[in-house]
Amino acid sequence: MRVLKGDLVEVITGEDRGKKASVLRILPRKDKIVVEGINQVYKHLRRDRKNPQGGRLQKEAAIPMSNVLPVCPKCDHGVRVGYLAKEDGKKVRVCRTCKTEVGKPF
Ligand SMILES: [Zn+2]
Repeated sequence: MRVLKGDLVEVITGEDRGKKASVLRILPRKDKIVVEGINQVYKHLRRDRKNPQGGRLQKEAAIPMSNVLPVCPKCDHGVRVGYLAKEDGKKVRVCRTCKTEVGKPF
């Protein structure tokens, strides 16, 4: 897993390119993720008893996981990461440029 829930990521392609935000949800089977405030779409709500006015709701739609990179705290932008096994068996992601740990161990 290159990107985990809660990670700060940078969008590297599309309309939201250059924006940084945190990952809300991972859809592993589709290789997609939902990122806070990114790729907002309006969902139109049908008029019904609960919602007599109808209306619309702004919501994030999933984007391909390959459209983002995890943000390195030192480089301060999205970076390619490598993996490193820690002594306790957990793995960490490290920035390929400066070797700083990126995000939480997993
Ligand atoms: Zn870095």
